Amino acid sequence: MPVVNDAHTSPSTDLTNLLALDQTSAEQFVLGLGWPRYRTKQLLRWLYQKRVRDIEQMTDLSKAERACLKVVALVGRSQDGRIIRSEDGTRKFLIRLEDGLLVESVLIPEGRRLTLCLSTQVGCTLDCDFCLTGKMGLKRNLKAHEIVEQVLVVQDRLEPDERLSSLVLMGMGEPLANLDAVSDAIARLTNEEWGLGIPARRITLSTAGLASRLKEIASLGVNLAISLNATTNAQRDRLMPAVNRLHPLDALLAACRAYPLPPRRRLTFEYVLLAGVNDSDQDAKRLTKLLRGLPCKVNLIPFNEFPNSPYRRPDDATALRFQAHLKQAGLDTFIRKSKGRDVLGACGQLGEVRRREPVALTPVGADC
Ligand code: SAH
Repeated sequence: MPVVNDAHTSPSTDLTNLLALDQTSAEQFVLGLGWPRYRTKQLLRWLYQKRVRDIEQMTDLSKAERACLKVVALVGRSQDGRIIRSEDGTRKFLIRLEDGLLVESVLIPEGRRLTLCLSTQVGCTLDCDFCLTGKMGLKRNLKAHEIVEQVLVVQDRLEPDERLSSLVLMGMGEPLANLDAVSDAIARLTNEEWGLGIPARRITLSTAGLASRLKEIASLGVNLAISLNATTNAQRDRLMPAVNRLHPLDALLAACRAYPLPPRRRLTFEYVLLAGVNDSDQDAKRLTKLLRGLPCKVNLIPFNEFPNSPYRRPDDATALRFQAHLKQAGLDTFIRKSKGRDVLGACGQLGEVRRREPVALTPVGADC
C-alpha cells in the first residue's frame, strides 16, 4: 500500500485524493506503489496540465497500472458548481467543496485581458467593516488544491479564444492567514514542468496588511498588493479592526518599506473609497505622505455596495478628485472599474449567494 497520511484522503471514500498531494507527498505515494520516481511528474501533469477528472483518462499508464491506481486513489475534482454571468461579461464561479461549502471565484474580462480572482478561505479571518465576506466570519481555510481547483474549473470552461492573463488572490479570505496552503497552491500554479505554468509575475496576492508575514511573500515571486483603506489609525481601527489592532499603520508601512522588491517591480496599494469616510482632500494628502518614497502604484476602489451596509459609494467626481490629488503628488493612481456588481461579484461582495435577474445560471462540474 502506498504511504499517505490521512490529510490526503478523501473523507467520502478512504481513497487518496491525488490533487491533495503536494510534489513531495505525490512522490512518496508513487514510490509507495512500487513505481519509479519519474512517474510522479507524469501523474502531476495529468492533473494540472491535462486537467483529467478520472484516472481512466491517464492513457500513458497501462490498463493494469490504471486499475491498480484506482484501487487506492481518485482525482478529487469538484463535482458540482454554478456560473453566474453578469451583464458586463464578468462570470462568478461557485464551486462546491467536498464538505458542501461553496467557494467563489470571479473571472473578469477587460479589453483583451482576462483576470481570475481567487479565494483563499471560505469566509474570512478578518472583520473589515466594508466587506461582505468579513460579515460571514471564517468558515474555514481552503486547502492548496481547493485554491488550484478554482483555476482548473475556470480553464475547463474558457471559450476556445480565451486565455487567462492574470490571477489575483483577492477573493474571499485573507491569503496571509492561510499562507502554507497559498504557497503550496502558488507552487502548483507556477511550476512549468508539471504544474499550470502561470508566470509568478502574473499573480498578485492582496493582503489586508499582516505586516509580520509580508517578507514571506517575496520568495514566492508574486506581486504584492496591500489594502490600506485608511490614513490614520483611528480610521483604520474602525474600518479594519482586527488587522489594524495587530498591525497598526506605522508597523505596516515599515514592513512595506523593508519589503525586498525585485528590480523593476513595485507594490500596489489598494484604497476603498467610502463616501464621507475616507475620501476627503485631507485623506488624499495624508495618503501621499504615507506613501512618499515607496515604489508603488495606487488602486482606488470605489465602494461596492451590498445590502445592509452603512457605507456608500462616492460619486465619480469625488473619486476623480481624489485620484488627481495623488497624481499631482507623483503617485501612479488608477480607479478600479467595478465589474460584476449585478451578480455580487465585485470586490468585497463575495460571500452571499444571491441570484438576481438577469443572470444565466450554468452548471459546472463533471460534464464540462
Ligand atoms: N483580504 C485581502 C483580499 C480580499 S479583499 C485584502 O484585504 O486585501 C480584496 C480587496 O477588496 C481589498 O482591497 C479590499 O479592501 C477590497 N474590498 C473589500 N470590500 C469592498 C467593497 N465592499 N467595495 C470595494 N472594495 C472592497
